[in-house]
Amino acid sequence: MSRIVVVGSINMDIVNQVEKFPLPGETIHGKGVDYLPGGKGANQAVAAALAGGQVEMLGAVGEDSFAPALLESLGRYGVGTKHVLRKPGTSGLAFITVADSGENQIILAEGSNGQVRPEDADESLLAGAHAVILQNEIPWETNLRVMQACRRLGGVRLVYNPAPVHPIPEEAYGLIDLLVVNETEAEGLSGLPVTNAEEASAAAEELVRRGAGSVLVTLGSKGAVYSDAEGESLFAPARKVRAVDTTAAGDTFIGALVAAGSNGMPIAEAMSFAAAAAAIAVTRPGAQASIPSREEIERSLA
Ligand code: ATP
Repeated sequence: MSRIVVVGSINMDIVNQVEKFPLPGETIHGKGVDYLPGGKGANQAVAAALAGGQVEMLGAVGEDSFAPALLESLGRYGVGTKHVLRKPGTSGLAFITVADSGENQIILAEGSNGQVRPEDADESLLAGAHAVILQNEIPWETNLRVMQACRRLGGVRLVYNPAPVHPIPEEAYGLIDLLVVNETEAEGLSGLPVTNAEEASAAAEELVRRGAGSVLVTLGSKGAVYSDAEGESLFAPARKVRAVDTTAAGDTFIGALVAAGSNGMPIAEAMSFAAAAAAIAVTRPGAQASIPSREEIERSLA
């Protein structure tokens, strides 16, 4: 089995439930707090490991009391943590307040994620990997260094999920083998409207034209489209399920897709596998806690 390396964020989500949000200057009582390991990098690593990938995480936790819990949680899901660094200060934190209306407010404190530096991108770990997955919750300079290293090393599939979205420098598109974006990110990057599969395909083709080897646009309950530089176009419908919490749908899709690819599954089949994984995740509450195992995904496809 070939290795997947996720270079990205590790957060502790501190989730407080309230009846309604406080006004500026107001103090209110919350109904109870949950501490839930999260972060896009960690979520995608967990999704890839549970879906049958051999996964190593490269990122950082702080020197606080959250760090051991974050490492323990990754390990429990089968993610390798030998390359998770300890940095001075706090771990990445997400302060999430959920009101009874279902709306949420999130304040991110990047903590040690902001300290994952270009020189931390250990090339001996990247070399020989089947795929490396990046997001936008660590410094861009580090992502760029990883992209350049993968291109130089050759044979490593560079998967980039630019979330939260910010513009990709023109010259970086050519370093990306698979760009995975949701509707908002596809619109933001391509400058084109993306409200359905047809428009998503046009946006994907525009991003391929800029130099990405292939582009996958996820469209929530409307499925996902794929276009590549060889002119292949694919569509994977979303599975019909009753969604209760779509948190980490995208992260589950990406992790499962890359895990399937690392086990030799062709892209069309891998998209159906990933759609099945994400469909299970949206039927359960939480982020990492909602991500299914390979067995569960296969059972749902049988
Ligand atoms: P998030 O930010 O919540 O993690 P995202 O915006 O990155 O999600 P989406 O495009 O919403 O990603 O979803 C990714 C994939 O998950 C979709 O392509 C689809 O396969 C699956 N999915 C999402 N929502 C649903 C749903 N309601 N029913 C079935 N499948 C869904």
